[in-house]
Amino acid sequence: MPANANPFDPMKILDGIRRWVEIETPTEAPKQVNRLSGMVADGYGDLPVTLERVAGHSGCGDHLVARSSWGQDSPGILVLSHLDTVHPIGFIERLPFKIEGDSAFGPGIYDMKGGAYLAYHAFRQLCANSQRSPLGVTQLYVSDEEIGSPTSRPLIEAEGRKAKYVLVTEPARDGGKIVTGRKGVARFEIFVKGVASHAGTRPEDGRSAIRELANLIQTLESMNDLKRGVSVNVGVIRGGTRPNVIAEEAYAEVDMRVPTIADADDLVPKILNLRSSTEGVSVKVVGELNRPPYEKGNAGAALYEHARTLAAEIGFDLVDSSTGGGSDGNFTAPHTATLDGLGVDGKGAHTHYEQMYISSIEPRARLLHRLFQTLR
Ligand SMILES: [Zn+2]
Repeated sequence: MPANANPFDPMKILDGIRRWVEIETPTEAPKQVNRLSGMVADGYGDLPVTLERVAGHSGCGDHLVARSSWGQDSPGILVLSHLDTVHPIGFIERLPFKIEGDSAFGPGIYDMKGGAYLAYHAFRQLCANSQRSPLGVTQLYVSDEEIGSPTSRPLIEAEGRKAKYVLVTEPARDGGKIVTGRKGVARFEIFVKGVASHAGTRPEDGRSAIRELANLIQTLESMNDLKRGVSVNVGVIRGGTRPNVIAEEAYAEVDMRVPTIADADDLVPKILNLRSSTEGVSVKVVGELNRPPYEKGNAGAALYEHARTLAAEIGFDLVDSSTGGGSDGNFTAPHTATLDGLGVDGKGAHTHYEQMYISSIEPRARLLHRLFQTLR
């Protein structure tokens, strides 16, 4: 490389992102995810790391861990990325990699292959210099974030506990904002069982599961408190068989978001303890908090201030925000200083117009690089 070449040349980095995007990796296609993690592993071939492949199971692909050869005897930096996307195989025909103005399009380019690649590139640049960073760097690429990280969660939590800082390369949002708070996410299923009867000839013998579910929906909806940041959504209902049959069964799926652990402790049991108010009708609720809320603690706030200073030196204003969306950062933030949303800026995550902004590549790759260099 000529001495004056820019090590953070956005078009060169974009070319690397393109190669990751062109291997389609829906969570439920583990072979494809493994093909990409193989390519990522190959990219570390000439770097001072030890690579570990954690075999996937339960229909998910492998997780890849790259540990710097230095600094592994004390708490260091954990970088969390996911290689899976929500887009099914073949989606790339509808959303091929292409550049239009400042936007680059492709399945998963914004959420989050762009960000994952930035972290890889920043680490590569860190190694280009023989001076080692004060802390070791461990990069974890998981295969199942888009379905709630069922197989990677123990690994994320174990590595998160060992780390001093966690950097998550989920997309930036709303003009480059990073994330210092995420709501907790709880999911529930509700099963209602009543008594079937002919709606015309024997209505008095029936106990409608649908009517009971309707009561429960009223109770659930009344738990919404947007000021407090609590949202409860009954997003799916099913029940009954025919108009002239009193429904024996009804079913609902519920999503709840809470800003604090205290809110979760208050509301999760309330939902689990929902009971039938009609004799002869039973209600069963199953579910749990599957991602704890991520609150901006003291350590997280200091990490954010440090990143903000570095961003200002690079030439941009790093603004933080809180979001209702969950990420793997929710698993580490309760015990380790975590900064999320460090990936590329863009829009249209999970859609047919998903895109990242090319202008966000260089500043954000430089920020990750400076974080590696300066965190201690
Ligand atoms: Zn993501």
